[in-house]
Amino acid sequence: MLGDIKYWENEAKENKYAIPHFNVWNAEMLMAVIDAAENLRAPIIISFGSGFIQNTNFEEFSAMMISMAKHATVPIITHWDHGRSMDIIKNAYNHGMNSVMRDASSLPFEENVKEIKKAVDYFHPLGVPVEAELGHVGNETIYEEALAEYQYTDPDMAQEFVEKTRCDSLAVAVGNQHGVYTSEPKINFDIIEKISRAVDVPLVLHGASGIGDKDIKKSIRLGISKINIHTELCQAAMEAVNMHCDVPFLELQQHVRQAIKEKAEYKIKLFGANNKVN
Ligand SMILES: [Zn+2]
Repeated sequence: MLGDIKYWENEAKENKYAIPHFNVWNAEMLMAVIDAAENLRAPIIISFGSGFIQNTNFEEFSAMMISMAKHATVPIITHWDHGRSMDIIKNAYNHGMNSVMRDASSLPFEENVKEIKKAVDYFHPLGVPVEAELGHVGNETIYEEALAEYQYTDPDMAQEFVEKTRCDSLAVAVGNQHGVYTSEPKINFDIIEKISRAVDVPLVLHGASGIGDKDIKKSIRLGISKINIHTELCQAAMEAVNMHCDVPFLELQQHVRQAIKEKAEYKIKLFGANNKVN
């Protein structure tokens, strides 16, 4: 069934677990994460973004995402990740996504506010919640170098940002980075705690692949309610490819699917999202 992100993020926030957000851009990934969610009775988010159009036609693939979400026996939210313009997220909505992120985090504070307000004004009347980002979670690069000029979320600004924009959830920059970490991630728990006290919306952790289990659990305890995973699904898939590269393609894809499913199940349990639905 289609899930309501606002309901589940707030449910997770109240009960100190996190809703898993899985980026999916092919049939195997999509089937694997939904299998995992059904197996563990977990609500999950399946998500697409601009980075994946180099491989996958979203306008066609979205039909499969929606169909599988509707037929699933657990709540599945269909989400657009890192929408860099209004046109991009309008297109996502027009192709059935029931949740969007408008990412204007590379802009100065006032412009970020302006862009998110615009998205909220457009999407709230349609019943679609909007995720925003303050501070900036960068793309994959040398992690130590990224940390040297890292744009952490400012807790005081976060409060003003949420009040002004009325965004439904807030992605935070707390030492997290997209892609593979070139050294151990250094998560600033103090900032998570402060933002969590300053705002009342659920907080989102992007770039969570590669962050250790203990740090993930602590982040959830301090107020993270949605966690994004992509890289670790890809790594699990690649391990399966390397291990089974001599079997027929059809069989190989089943190994890939199984590996992704196992990784998704591991994350669902780690985030405490299992057994949340009958
Ligand atoms: Zn992200």
